Amino acid sequence: MDLGVIGMIVDAHVHLKHGDIRRTEYSPEVIVETMDRVGIDKSVVFAMSTTTKRSIEMALEAVRKYPGRLIPFVYALPNYERPVIAELEEAITKLGFKGIKLHAGECTLAEYVTDPVIALAERLGVPCLIDCMGRFWDIERMARCFPGAKLIVAHLGRYLCEDEALIDRFIELALRYENIFLDVSGVALTHKIREAVSKVGSDRVIFGTDGPHEAPDTVGFAKKELDKIKALNLDPEDEEAVLGGTIARLLKI
Ligand SMILES: [Zn+2]
Repeated sequence: MDLGVIGMIVDAHVHLKHGDIRRTEYSPEVIVETMDRVGIDKSVVFAMSTTTKRSIEMALEAVRKYPGRLIPFVYALPNYERPVIAELEEAITKLGFKGIKLHAGECTLAEYVTDPVIALAERLGVPCLIDCMGRFWDIERMARCFPGAKLIVAHLGRYLCEDEALIDRFIELALRYENIFLDVSGVALTHKIREAVSKVGSDRVIFGTDGPHEAPDTVGFAKKELDKIKALNLDPEDEEAVLGGTIARLLKI
């Protein structure tokens, strides 16, 4: 094993542009300064609430400023004017993008929209981070139809979900399909993170902050999210995997 990787903390869910009502944007400077102050080594960054083309421009600009710190994902969103699949493929094969982001808030997860994207992710060997907003059956279908595609389910299934039974279904799904990974950003019921680790294994549970956020400030927010994982008192090997090892392996970094 690469000794440099041990103990590396990777935030696997960071927005250059959010999906909130104001479509908040954060500069790479703010993101990296926050990481420095919290002790996060690398962050996966992406933009949403914009076109695939613009998401590529924003992430490229950020990563060129901070190579080695920021890892770009490309945002997949259908477009009337341009073939998005070609843009995704170019971003991954020529521009160094390491994964794809999909969000049910901006496009349906129906098979006629998502399947070309998941097939591409499978073919190119990159993970797809999907915020499915609790749409369990869409994720179940993707996992079943694309066994070779690595699917990262954002927020343990649904952002700030208080419905334990729904989270349980996503954990059980991960038990059934080895290509499902669980992103534990934006999880309100933190004991479900521990449960996911003990049931599914830390090699498929991934830390992220879903930041930056201003409450109380970007540093305080990211620190609180990191402390949430540390407070679980996982076995050291599990904590290390959740905080960076698992995503590092997935992204081959
Ligand atoms: Zn997010």
